[in-house]
Amino acid sequence: MNNKRASVVGAGILGLAVAKTLAELGYKVTVIERSLNARGSSIRNFGMVWPIGQHIEKQLPRAIKSREVWMDLCEKGKIWNNPCGSIQLFTNEIELEMAVDFYEQNIHARKGLKILSKEECRNQVSNLNELNILGGLYSDSEVIVESREAIRQIPDILSATLPIEFIFGKTVIEATNEKVVTSDGTTIENDIVFICSGFEINILYPDVFNNAPITISQLNMLRSKPIESQIPAVCGGLSFLHYDAYSSIKKLGEYKQLCDEKYPNQVKHGIHLLVSQNQNNCLTIGDSHEYNMQNEPFQEIDVNNYILDYYNELFSNHDLQITQTWMGEYLKMKDGSSEWIEEIEPGVFIFNGPGGAGMTLGFGMADDAIPTLLR
Ligand SMILES: Cc1cc2nc3c(=O)[nH]c(=O)nc-3n(C[C@H](O)[C@H](O)[C@H](O)COP(=O)(O)OP(=O)(O)OC[C@H]3O[C@@H](n4cnc5c(N)ncnc54)[C@H](O)[C@@H]3O)c2cc1C
Repeated sequence: MNNKRASVVGAGILGLAVAKTLAELGYKVTVIERSLNARGSSIRNFGMVWPIGQHIEKQLPRAIKSREVWMDLCEKGKIWNNPCGSIQLFTNEIELEMAVDFYEQNIHARKGLKILSKEECRNQVSNLNELNILGGLYSDSEVIVESREAIRQIPDILSATLPIEFIFGKTVIEATNEKVVTSDGTTIENDIVFICSGFEINILYPDVFNNAPITISQLNMLRSKPIESQIPAVCGGLSFLHYDAYSSIKKLGEYKQLCDEKYPNQVKHGIHLLVSQNQNNCLTIGDSHEYNMQNEPFQEIDVNNYILDYYNELFSNHDLQITQTWMGEYLKMKDGSSEWIEEIEPGVFIFNGPGGAGMTLGFGMADDAIPTLLR
């Protein structure tokens, strides 16, 4: 222990990851979360730890590190998880060609990639749409957790083994390298503070957030009743347009044009399909992307229908019953950066910005960046 005290604002995945790393570096850590338990992006997502979508150079090693940490925490805390891997399903020839290109570029860096025939896809996804699916790309690295449970279980696991205290239900209104003050007047003394407040940009250092190259992405999400079969995590061809991992695929431009024509509504609303299944066999299905500094709270049912239209191209259970819908938000960098880690004044750090990949990158980001930052 180095006798230094650190405060962390926010108990989402980034706050948890930062707290863990700081405690391992010898800090006595206090995490302050304004809600009674985490309520931000980290409990509204698919629970996908998704190395397959991450850029091979910088993000993939962080994703692999995060996966290791997730598996360790899940084992320690008996958190439900499914290391089921993922399948990207394809409905046309250009998607198959792109998959082969990706496979050939990535086979040495990513273990467990395999091009699947239609038959092999059917063996793993028994509810696939036989009329449309031509083949798939399997990756064995992906893990699913039920994020609304897992994120809320982690504080107890961390505080049982590391010098980390969690304070829930208090909003931080002032954060400096001397202290953190909450809205009820509680003061916590510290030597450094990490602000992991996610997409909430108006409470602490609003000028810093307002002048940063950021936007807030809002996503429509759906959950189904349990389905009969068990499936790995699934995405579709449209995901080629979404993740950095695919940026060097040669036919990406041609594919984008095809999608503009074939899927105008999905492209307009930034829809690509991700499907994860939880321990009760319910599916989490999404998502769409609208980008604004302040999004409207009204959910467009048409957008949900466009997500389901694409789902129905890939899957056969058209009688799927939706039981929950919600919207998620996350902060995203507009300048192409994959993160925002910055000391904005001595001892005050912003730790934010992994966009749609915080569950995948959080632990790896903290482990990789913080020791250098504090040196
Ligand atoms: C719908 C959706 C699906 C996604 N799917 C995936 C996925 O499957 N895989 C993946 O890797 N990533 C996914 N992401 C991205 C991932 O969820 C985010 O990158 C990640 O959750 C961001 O974590 P965070 O800790 O920065 O923010 P948050 O989880 O929003 O946490 C911030 C916390 O700070 C608290 N807070 C804010 N201000 C204060 C204050 N002043 N005082 C005290 N507390 C404060 C908030 O209450 C909140 O709990 C998805 C995101 C969304 C929205």
